[in-house]
Amino acid sequence: MPPSPPRLTTDDHDRASAGLTWVYPVVSRRAGGVSVGINLNPNRACNWRCIYCQVPGLVRGTAPPVDVEGLEQELRGFLTDVVHGDFLVRAVPPGARVLRDVAFSGDGEPTTCRNFDRVVEKVGRVLADFDLVGQVALVLITNGSLVHRPEVLRGLDQMGRLGGEVWFKLDGGSEAERASTAPG
Ligand code: SF4
Repeated sequence: MPPSPPRLTTDDHDRASAGLTWVYPVVSRRAGGVSVGINLNPNRACNWRCIYCQVPGLVRGTAPPVDVEGLEQELRGFLTDVVHGDFLVRAVPPGARVLRDVAFSGDGEPTTCRNFDRVVEKVGRVLADFDLVGQVALVLITNGSLVHRPEVLRGLDQMGRLGGEVWFKLDGGSEAERASTAPG
């Protein structure tokens, strides 16, 4: 029997809570349930250094290339425990025992990963195998500074086909300026 993970709370966003390299669960107030985070920056590197950043030990830099098969293995194993196992009962408080989203969000900027497109493709395939496409949200939380890169554009294209959402971090600009750049 695998060791019981600690019971999750909305205050605990420890990336190591599941003992995995890239995949970590959080109970998210934002999502109203469990969010499965995918941390492409286990080296805690970001191309920005915001003064309010809460990543402990943040360094300037980029994500290392991700071992896509390794990440796939972690995600499959973890989703098996969530979808077919008793993870929700074991580790999640009552009232939050629902899988809400899979989010690229970790200890740095996810789009600095040079094989970002391959990662998104693989995650999409895993979600499809669990019949989760369209059932849970697929979210990218990004500072938006690298959307011009070809691998990022390809990844965003894949996310669009999976019904994904991109949440850009906006630090400045007036209400009117933000509205003028909004689509539609
Ligand atoms: S973009 Fe996000 S991860 Fe990067 S420094 Fe700013 S707050 Fe931290």
